[in-house]
Amino acid sequence: MIKQIKDNVFQLSFGKFGSCVYLLKLKDKDNKNILIDTSSKENRQELLLDLEKLKIKLEEISIIILTHNHWDHNGNLELFKKSKIYALKNIGKFKVNGIKVIYTPGHTYDSICLLYKDILFSGDTIFFNGIGRTDLPESQPEKMQESLEKLKKLKYKILCPGHV
Ligand SMILES: [Zn+2]
Repeated sequence: MIKQIKDNVFQLSFGKFGSCVYLLKLKDKDNKNILIDTSSKENRQELLLDLEKLKIKLEEISIIILTHNHWDHNGNLELFKKSKIYALKNIGKFKVNGIKVIYTPGHTYDSICLLYKDILFSGDTIFFNGIGRTDLPESQPEKMQESLEKLKKLKYKILCPGHV
């Protein structure tokens, strides 16, 4: 299901288990299209259909950012052969005007959130009703509180979590 969050921001959510995917159509000089997360393999057909409805070809996605490396978020990376893929390990090289990266370990050691204007893309760190699990092998429960404090200080109006 496609939901328009802002004129240039779309949320794609799916029938099977898997994260939401967010599409940002930046109006910068080269009109970059950015995807945040790619959902699970189980949702691949629906993702392809949604992108088609949005009239975006796979090769027109120039950047993919993973909020963390869980299978239900990174399951469709292989579709995007031309995209530059960013996750915590190389996020230092990510430089796009207007998008701020916040390191938020807790749910996983490699969790990041992204702030774009007044929208926070929070991955599995926070949801509308609560916070992400911190009892997984990749979790860092002792870091979660500090991460939540960081997010509280941000001035955002719209929350776009990894699962809705
Ligand atoms: Zn996760």
